[in-house]
Amino acid sequence: MHEISLVQGLLGQLHDIAGQHKTTRILKVTMVIGPLSGVVVDSFKFGFDILTKEDALVKDAKLEIIIPEVTYRCSNCQGVQKTAGERPHECAECGDNLLIAEEGNDLILQQVEME
Ligand SMILES: [Zn+2]
Repeated sequence: MHEISLVQGLLGQLHDIAGQHKTTRILKVTMVIGPLSGVVVDSFKFGFDILTKEDALVKDAKLEIIIPEVTYRCSNCQGVQKTAGERPHECAECGDNLLIAEEGNDLILQQVEME
């Protein structure tokens, strides 16, 4: 599962941050996961649950996931739709089905709350 290695990368980052701030406990982690990032949110949560269990630094950390909206721009009329859900099949204005996604593939560690 691809998400496990992403969580491992995240934990590495958290240890670096904790070292910089000389803290031994992280309470909450907020991630932004774009709907087009290819990351399966449930798998990410699952990986986080498993990998944090044996890691004293993040054992009790809560994971919050924010899924941002993606802007889809119609290549025909430039009409714009925004959604955090499934990709729209066609333009709401003209019905054209060539929509271009703008952003939405981010995976960002947005916030870390420490003790
Ligand atoms: Zn259109």
